[in-house]
Amino acid sequence: MKKTIKDYEYKGKTVLLRCDFNVPIDNGLITDDTRIKESLTTINYLLQQNAKLIILSHLGKVKNEEDKEKNTLYPVYLRLKELVNTNVYFSKETRGENLEKLVKDLKEKEILLIENTRYEDLDGKKESSCEEELSKYWASLGNIYINDAYGTSHRKHASNVGISKLLPNAVGFLIEKEITKLDEIMNENTEPFVVIMGGKKISDKTLVIENLITKCNKILIGGGMCFTFLKAKGYNVGDSIVDDENLEFCKNILDNYEDKIILPIDIITSNKEIKDIDNLNNNDAGFDIGPKTIELFKENLKSAKRVVVNGPMGVFEEKDFSKGTNEIYNCLKENNIKTLIGGGDSAASVNLLGYNNAFFHISTGGGATLDYLSGKNLPGIDAIEDK
Ligand code: ADP
Ligand code: MG
Repeated sequence: MKKTIKDYEYKGKTVLLRCDFNVPIDNGLITDDTRIKESLTTINYLLQQNAKLIILSHLGKVKNEEDKEKNTLYPVYLRLKELVNTNVYFSKETRGENLEKLVKDLKEKEILLIENTRYEDLDGKKESSCEEELSKYWASLGNIYINDAYGTSHRKHASNVGISKLLPNAVGFLIEKEITKLDEIMNENTEPFVVIMGGKKISDKTLVIENLITKCNKILIGGGMCFTFLKAKGYNVGDSIVDDENLEFCKNILDNYEDKIILPIDIITSNKEIKDIDNLNNNDAGFDIGPKTIELFKENLKSAKRVVVNGPMGVFEEKDFSKGTNEIYNCLKENNIKTLIGGGDSAASVNLLGYNNAFFHISTGGGATLDYLSGKNLPGIDAIEDK
């Protein structure tokens, strides 16, 4: 178990908190402030504990001077000020005298937000390569380091791994919740354990499939990725999305785990027609799983003790192709099956279709959760001390 935020006392201490404030911004306006709001539990806890709080976060990628203006954290600073009940300051610089003065003047229960950590990537990728000098500099500004940026925990950056190595450290409430939930569902021994894979590209998820297929009893494959499997089995999948580079991968998985894999038997085409999968024309593109497949998947879910979902069953963003995803979520909910949702678009589909509170856990980190489900270590979390 990793040290958590509650393992330290903060009175009079300057705490460096790594948040994930990588929010969508359009024309200087934040279009979705969920990530800022979700960080408030950790932020408010540290303020209540009388910490002086310095917050670090990245925003987008910074490759040139123009990216700097596009990806300034200033709008986040303005929003944060509205959401907390204390003084918030903003440092336009990621290092230097002005920043150091702001740190020196910071009082207990106040917040200093530092500009986008990736500004340090312009001059030799210092943040993203976890440069030691930068890590040391940031660490020198505080006494304790708290990492609550789950979404970046699959990266080894100066603002997470680098500082962790130099200061007493712990995970914040968001990371604690993510790893507790992920570990719980992956490591308990209840069966049947069913995995539902979907989404667009199989190339992002071959490692997830390879890892989960050895652990689960059944894997239901829908979404766009099922067509590469169906093609590997010899079906004509028409104009559906196929990833020919992974045909061999699919053949191998099918050869080795035939009994575990359940593929669609019918689909909804982009023209909204229901078609059996042995009956597709060259111009048919599958956009959702069909009614027989929904029944087949439900049949395989009813007795499940735990389920991991990674990817929607169809183009859920359009109402006409959201039925498969919706019916599967409904089945999981109605049968009270312990369900973990992983993947950025999967989480979005859960919200869009109104299942926000229906499941055991909806993981917030796209790439980080994919890496976790692939069986990889997450460097940002590994770097935190054990209890
Ligand atoms: P996640 O982010 O949950 O891991 P992905 O990024 O792999 O999921 O895929 C999500 C996208 O897949 C959605 O935007 C959805 O519209 C798309 N998608 C699902 N089914 C299909 C399909 N049959 N054809 C094309 N795109 C699909
Ligand atoms: Mg995605």
